[in-house]
Amino acid sequence: MLPVLAAAAAIAFVVLAWIGYEALAREFEAELVEDGTRSLDRTADMARVWFERYSALAPIYARDPRVTAALEAPGDAALARTLNRELEAWNGLAGTTDTYVMNRDGTTIAASNWEEAHSFVGRNFAFRPYFRDALEGRLGRFFGLGTTSGLRGYYFGAPVRDARGIIGVVVVKIAITPLEEDLRLGPHQAFFTDEAGIIVVAGTPALRLKRLGEIAEAERARIVETRQFDGATLGPAPVAAAGSWLDGTQQLVRAPDDSGSGTAHRYVDLSRRIETLDWTLHVLADTAVVNRRMTSALLTGGAGALALLTLASLLWQRRQRLVERLRHRERDRLALERRVAQRTAELTAANARLEAEVAERRNAEESLRRTQSELVQAGKLAALGQMSAALSHEFNQPLTAIRTYSENAIAFYEAGAGQKAAENLARVLRLTERMAQLSKHLTRFARRSQDDVTPVDLDAVLSDALGLLKGRIERAEAEVRREGDAGLAVLGGAVRLQHVVMNLVGNALDAVPADRTPQIRIALRRDGGEIEIAVEDNGTGIAPEALPRIFDPFFTTKEVGKGLGLGLSISFNIVKDFGGTMRAENGADGGARFVIRLPAAGTGTREAAE
Ligand code: ADP
Repeated sequence: MLPVLAAAAAIAFVVLAWIGYEALAREFEAELVEDGTRSLDRTADMARVWFERYSALAPIYARDPRVTAALEAPGDAALARTLNRELEAWNGLAGTTDTYVMNRDGTTIAASNWEEAHSFVGRNFAFRPYFRDALEGRLGRFFGLGTTSGLRGYYFGAPVRDARGIIGVVVVKIAITPLEEDLRLGPHQAFFTDEAGIIVVAGTPALRLKRLGEIAEAERARIVETRQFDGATLGPAPVAAAGSWLDGTQQLVRAPDDSGSGTAHRYVDLSRRIETLDWTLHVLADTAVVNRRMTSALLTGGAGALALLTLASLLWQRRQRLVERLRHRERDRLALERRVAQRTAELTAANARLEAEVAERRNAEESLRRTQSELVQAGKLAALGQMSAALSHEFNQPLTAIRTYSENAIAFYEAGAGQKAAENLARVLRLTERMAQLSKHLTRFARRSQDDVTPVDLDAVLSDALGLLKGRIERAEAEVRREGDAGLAVLGGAVRLQHVVMNLVGNALDAVPADRTPQIRIALRRDGGEIEIAVEDNGTGIAPEALPRIFDPFFTTKEVGKGLGLGLSISFNIVKDFGGTMRAENGADGGARFVIRLPAAGTGTREAAE
């Protein structure tokens, strides 16, 4: 793109420069023509004035009586002498070359140069046109070479009249050298050509008495007849046509310059005919001026163009840098936008994923909750089933026994065996007591005791509990060790705490397989404001899956009839009621370990009963 633009700009520049160059050249040419024309006007005026200055002399002289007298009395030597002197004086005063008087025959009767070797006196110039014109009553004008002097001169001839008519002619000859000097002072070369095309007056010597083109036959005859250019060769002028200017309106010529060196220049040939002289004035305006002006204009223009070009290129470079910077910025902006869009898309996707996840989780949670409630429901039903099974076993077994013992008692009573009947009834009584115990146990579970807590002596609680379990412990041949601090007291209820300890020790005895000697360790420890009671055994330990549910009511791993699954649940709640905690874990050697923490009481005072 850029090279094409640059090429187009270069072409446009060249075309514009060419148009400008041409317009400027035309302008300079026109100016030169104008200047030459002004010079032409001035030179024509100057020449006219110059000739007019001398044109009046001959007619004035012709009116002088001494002239008339001398002409009227031919052969009067005295008159002729007087006139000679007079003419010499006039000639000197007017600054003319020669002044002389001719009779009607054309013979000079008196002349300003009468005393000189080449005196005109006695010589006949009847062949000169100025003589003939004057005889016809006109002021004769003539340019020619002096037949005597060989010098170029301009002649004025005026008729001398008396009562009879024209009796002679007064002639004043002027040199044209001063005019040529004046022409040389002008700004341009200037010369005059006569009607035959001969250069008669010229500032440049090389042009003088040269012909422009060929001389017509008639003119040639006239020249010979009037002896106008006596002895002169009239060679061709070194002026040759050299084209034209300004649409052919101005003719150009090649001619030598006025330095005399022979160097030829091209000139605009400006000319004007001057009627009074019957001549054409030529002014040659040197076209070198235009070339010089064009050169300097070109230099100036070139320098200007160069400056402009430099400026333009600087501006262009600056613009390029700016464009480059903007392009960079745009690229960065686009990259940023792309990144932002990408991130936004990623975020949107992540968001959508998150939302989907949340919805999924919500669904999962919902289904979990549903499953959980179903499980709870199922768990409750299972617990209920378990409880029903346990209770019906607990009650059915003594009821069956009661029924049997009662039937036995009736039978023994009817058979008169009163003792035996009484024994059976006693058994029934024990069984009903056992059932009442069971019922009480259940009631305790259902109804929490709201009794106040009081300081309880732990040593007493432990020995009472172990005392009540004495029979079981002995049967199992278990070793029960009591460790740790003594004399500790907690806040709680003595009977309920005893129940808790009995439950833990009972469970421990159950947990140890029959082939092992049960070893139960009860450790008491004070820990700041709390008392820790740990009961540890060497049994099978608690299965990991059972651990979280071990304190749930009706959770049991024992076979039906062996356990209700309420012991730990009740114990947990008792401890909780006393503001304590209870946890289950497995000890280092595999057995279970239950840890109770209770708020310590200030002093260990024994509580008798609850
Ligand atoms: P039950 O003794 O009637 O089963 P519990 O609430 O006292 O009810 O005990 C619940 C269950 O906890 C027991 O069935 C048993 O599986 C487990 N358990 C309790 N104590 C121990 C222990 N010392 N060692 C191992 N398991 C135990």
